[in-house]
Amino acid sequence: MADLVVSKLAKEFVTRDEPLVVLRDISLQLAVGENVAILGPSGSGKSTLLHIIGTLDTPSSGSVTLLGQDPFQLTERQLAVFRNQHIGFVFQDHHLLPQLTVLENVLIPTIAAGNATSEAVARAEDLIDRVGLAERLDHRPAELSGGERQRVAVARALIQRPALLLADEPTGSLDRTNAQAIGKLLLDLQQQEKTLLVVVTHSLELANLMSRRMELDDGVLQEVD
Ligand code: ADP
Ligand code: MG
Repeated sequence: MADLVVSKLAKEFVTRDEPLVVLRDISLQLAVGENVAILGPSGSGKSTLLHIIGTLDTPSSGSVTLLGQDPFQLTERQLAVFRNQHIGFVFQDHHLLPQLTVLENVLIPTIAAGNATSEAVARAEDLIDRVGLAERLDHRPAELSGGERQRVAVARALIQRPALLLADEPTGSLDRTNAQAIGKLLLDLQQQEKTLLVVVTHSLELANLMSRRMELDDGVLQEVD
């Protein structure tokens, strides 16, 4: 069985007028080692879909199964633990804490989980090295370039060895050179760490790096190529 199974997912938002249907019928399966890009114009529901897959929002109908578990059956507390252990996020903006160093920012998920052990510090240092920032351990986000900040965000997303890595327009705030570098980095680390990777983007260039491409159109997800 696939490690991520999204089945007949639909999402509508309640508005003052009629309900706003964003996702109609989304199905997707992904096994370990696989990566997929989800393309679609602005407003097509990419972030909404990624948030639901990442358990940050709930579907109106349909289901998500990650590692054999339906996360929406968990209590809020169990879900927070599940998300912390199994899902890593990279957003368009890095969401780093400005007062913390690179090393401390990467360690945040381990602190939240109460396991900021010396092994976690060694793992953080290793990841920071692998994203090319070994010389920047004690820098704060303001002392980094945009591309470097996004590299830290990638390292932070992987610190807990998540099964699923989700990236929402991860190159949307970067110039072309840095965008390409972050795309390659995501892919390299996905292969090394053997995670599932879902990248949502309107950049064809980023999507073309991934092994599968799907397009979100009118609330339906279809394979492209
Ligand atoms: P994308 O990431 O592809 O640009 P989004 O998933 O952010 O698209 O949004 C899809 C549509 O859903 C948009 O029309 C947006 O205005 C609407 N939307 C997103 N979140 C909400 C919300 N919490 N309440 C109501 N409408 C929303
Ligand atoms: Mg979006």
